[in-house]
Amino acid sequence: MIDAARRVSRTHRRELAFGVAVASAAVLVAGDPHRAHALAPRCPVKLLTGLDCPACGGLRLTHDLVHGDVRAAVHDNAFLLLSGPLLAAIAWRGVAAERPGGLEPVPPRVAYALAAGAMVWMLVRNLPGWRLRPIVRD
Ligand SMILES: [Zn+2]
Repeated sequence: MIDAARRVSRTHRRELAFGVAVASAAVLVAGDPHRAHALAPRCPVKLLTGLDCPACGGLRLTHDLVHGDVRAAVHDNAFLLLSGPLLAAIAWRGVAAERPGGLEPVPPRVAYALAAGAMVWMLVRNLPGWRLRPIVRD
């Protein structure tokens, strides 16, 4: 019974991940997230506080990388650009850890270090005069 529940849960997570990937690709194909009125989700932290959160610019970053504009991607979110491979490795390892006989899960200190880096990034990117701001057109 528990194994069946785990299998269903794992299947639903895969379907959810696939749905999020398809929706994200559709948003990137449908429009340019650099446009002020683009079809893209708005960041709740930015809406509530006016501050860029550690992930702000992630959609624009993905759009720019897909279109080969690395310079614009650095402006969108340098932290996410640099930590992206580590985040992907952590996600992959998390999935692999769920399989029987799979890898060990990521040590918590890695996640804490990444979270601390994200907080420092949020502080730095919101300082007055910080020049690496996401490019918004219109
Ligand atoms: Zn944000």
